[in-house]
Amino acid sequence: MQTNFTPEQLKDPDTRESNQILRTCVHCGFCTATCPTFVLLGDELDSPRGRIYLIKDMLESGRPATADVVKHVDRCLSCLSCMTTCPSGVHYMHLVDHARRYIEETYQRPWPERALRRMLGMVLPYPERFRLALRGGRLGRRLAGLIPGGSQTAQRLRAMLSLTPDRLPPPSPMQRPQVHKALGERRGRVALLTGCAQQVLAPSINEATIRLLTRMGIEVVVTREQGCCGALSHHMGHHDPAMALARANIAAWAREMEGEGLDAVVINASGCGTTVKDYGFMFREEPSPWKERAEKVAAIAKDISEVLAQFGYAPSREKPSLTVAYHAACSLQHGQKLTTLPKALLQKAGFAVKEPAEAHLCCGSAGTYNLLQPEIASRLRERKLDNLGRTGADLIAAGNIGCLTQLAGDRIPVVHSVELLDWMAGGPEPAAVTAAFAARVRA
Ligand code: SF4
Ligand code: SF4
Repeated sequence: MQTNFTPEQLKDPDTRESNQILRTCVHCGFCTATCPTFVLLGDELDSPRGRIYLIKDMLESGRPATADVVKHVDRCLSCLSCMTTCPSGVHYMHLVDHARRYIEETYQRPWPERALRRMLGMVLPYPERFRLALRGGRLGRRLAGLIPGGSQTAQRLRAMLSLTPDRLPPPSPMQRPQVHKALGERRGRVALLTGCAQQVLAPSINEATIRLLTRMGIEVVVTREQGCCGALSHHMGHHDPAMALARANIAAWAREMEGEGLDAVVINASGCGTTVKDYGFMFREEPSPWKERAEKVAAIAKDISEVLAQFGYAPSREKPSLTVAYHAACSLQHGQKLTTLPKALLQKAGFAVKEPAEAHLCCGSAGTYNLLQPEIASRLRERKLDNLGRTGADLIAAGNIGCLTQLAGDRIPVVHSVELLDWMAGGPEPAAVTAAFAARVRA
């Protein structure tokens, strides 16, 4: 694709990067067929190719973003399915990240939307604030049906309240800063990203991860001052808050790397993993030592499935005679290109694993997407649950808290894959498994 940036514009590192990305696109349109918003809406402007043109015009013109461009970029899930499909290697993720930042810097959103986005950025990355908000949301849920109208604000409010869980698990002491010693001979040492929303919604995921790793002889460090990876702010175009959150993590893990050393930074929420693996790029223009530290952290960032495969996961229980529908989170399959490993681990653990049709399509979770674009998100959710249900599986397993929250409900029990792997290696039976057995008895 030909571009027309001025030499002055190309002095900006983000524009320089976007220029390179745009030039690799040959506008073949292969990506449209696998883009969830194009599949649902059928509008070229809601396809990757259409968005690429819109972003190119917006950046080249140097003018503030228009409402139309904002509408189509906002509808993008950042699922990165287009990157898997693209034969030219267009790095759509970095392009859309730049576009989102440009939009936030040049476009004045209506005030209810500005307030909502600011509130999400101030609450979701902070576990204590998020916990308080969920408590409030539980009270508000009873009033959800009374919210009138079909306006976007009303839809978003209803979506937020409907995603509030019935009950909240208590905070887990295992997630506090500490060193979890390896059982037996120490074979490795890792830091665990305990995350933000996940540690409130499902502390059982971090607990299972720590049990599983320490049982395998791996010491697990939960460092002080690590927190949200920054992805939620980053994907809303809030550059400075995202960088501040990432910087805190980099500082915490760099200290450990320079101290006792780390074999990996383990991430069990794949949305966060994709971002931490991109820290090197995010900090490419930062002064020393941040640039180098970020590169080092990104180089050892690993999804839990990679670490389990590296250290040789082995189950210790009898095969469970359960069929699992594996839901591939976009951030894992498209963002990190981990497609076979998570399924292979579930099979090794003794589960029969099935894959749904349209496995490449997003479930509609996508960070804050299901709160900001509830109508599209709920259509994708129904489509995904229908496909997962057709596999006839007893339960759904995924490696990302966003997907688990999005797919939870009364249809099929959902569980993080690491909880299943921990159970089969001697850990407690996950609640979803108990529910799946109970459903079998009832059937
Ligand atoms: S598949 Fe790649 S090269 Fe083709 S239009 Fe899409 S982004 Fe451009
Ligand atoms: S990231 Fe996903 S939703 Fe966005 S353009 Fe690519 S395929 Fe479409």
